[in-house]
Amino acid sequence: MTSPDWLESWPADEGARRVRALFADAFGASDDGAPDGVWSAPGRVNLIGEHTDYNGGLALPIALPHRTYVALRRRDDDVVRLASAQAPGETWTARLSEVAPGAVSGWGAYVAGVAWALRRAGHQVPGFDAVVDSCVPFGAGLSSSAALECAVAVALDDVAGLGLADDDAGRAELAAACVRAENEIAGAPTGGMDQAASLRCTEGHALLLDCRPGLSPLESATRVPFDLEAAGLALLVVDTRAEHALVDGQYAARRAACEKAAALLGLDSLRDVPAEGLPEALDALAEHDPDGVLRRRVQHVVTEIARTAEFAELVRAGKVDEVGPLMLASHTSLRVDYEVSARELDLVVEAATSAGALGARMTGGGFGGSAIALVRAGDVDAVVAAVQQAFDDAGLRAPGFLLAPPSAPAA
Ligand code: ADP
Ligand code: MG
Repeated sequence: MTSPDWLESWPADEGARRVRALFADAFGASDDGAPDGVWSAPGRVNLIGEHTDYNGGLALPIALPHRTYVALRRRDDDVVRLASAQAPGETWTARLSEVAPGAVSGWGAYVAGVAWALRRAGHQVPGFDAVVDSCVPFGAGLSSSAALECAVAVALDDVAGLGLADDDAGRAELAAACVRAENEIAGAPTGGMDQAASLRCTEGHALLLDCRPGLSPLESATRVPFDLEAAGLALLVVDTRAEHALVDGQYAARRAACEKAAALLGLDSLRDVPAEGLPEALDALAEHDPDGVLRRRVQHVVTEIARTAEFAELVRAGKVDEVGPLMLASHTSLRVDYEVSARELDLVVEAATSAGALGARMTGGGFGGSAIALVRAGDVDAVVAAVQQAFDDAGLRAPGFLLAPPSAPAA
């Protein structure tokens, strides 16, 4: 078998070097060729708490060492011009005054959408030229979309002198703008975890995110020390590279089912079903739910929120090596009750646990994307080899691997 495909993050100065060169290439001819600065933001991986954010629940992401870099220069007019190393040969242009839901398409919608959302929140944001390059795996469930939005958000915050990135409350506001950009301009109905993770995680910590509406920034985020190295552990991320048809609409369908169940229960969100009230809630749904689908969705969401709280408690108590069963239970719940797993994700979980991983689960929205495994540092190579072998035996495309120490936020 070929050697494993490690998806390395870039050293600190490489991203900046790349986007400065790309900026000179794309926009240098007209003037001095230098951007106002370089900003970057990480992708994220969620330890546990999946499909809970849009239910007002708990999630526990960390920032990846893999980041998206933006070189940006403000303009005196309303125009946005963009280029990306991930979209070669293509310049994306729009007028900010013309950006609106349904009015723009393509990857530039994630970028222009942030400027649009900041303007909607009452901030003065100028037009700009920007280029992007990234080592965050694309479409792998590691949130390259939020990394892009959040890098642009801190860039605009800086050039427009907003000062929001200077403290956590301001970062929560930037995250909210990025969520609006993704939901309303890019048209992806995701919850708020990805953007909060990219802007509000800190190095060496997991972010216990409470998505209950109306909480203050202080109430909505708690940083839990997550020192894998000291515990002799590593978090292995496996990008399955699975491509699935019919995924479009599945996320929105899950979200709609949760909203419907909450409405039938007379609640604002499924967060308001306490774990001990689950049997009663399931009973109450029975008459509206002949095929049991709604009840399975609710079962996942309510138990997942409880698992996330328990996971965070164990980490806080220095018992990281005891979270494995919670990860496996999360995966089973996502596979059986929420029905968002995929053959490739199940295969990673099976192969990794057989090779000694303490726990493993799919991460992100599902239907492909990535899985994680919590592994003793000395077992990483054996787990990687087992996953590779399993994919090879199944005739699947070789997966990508990365290690995920809890890393720094957008800056
Ligand atoms: P994920 O966030 O899991 O990586 P998404 O489908 O949410 O997957 O987001 C991927 C989309 O985000 C891409 O199709 C593209 O439109 C946009 N995107 C992310 N990073 C970049 C980049 N560096 N350059 C251009 N577009 C990007
Ligand atoms: Mg995304």
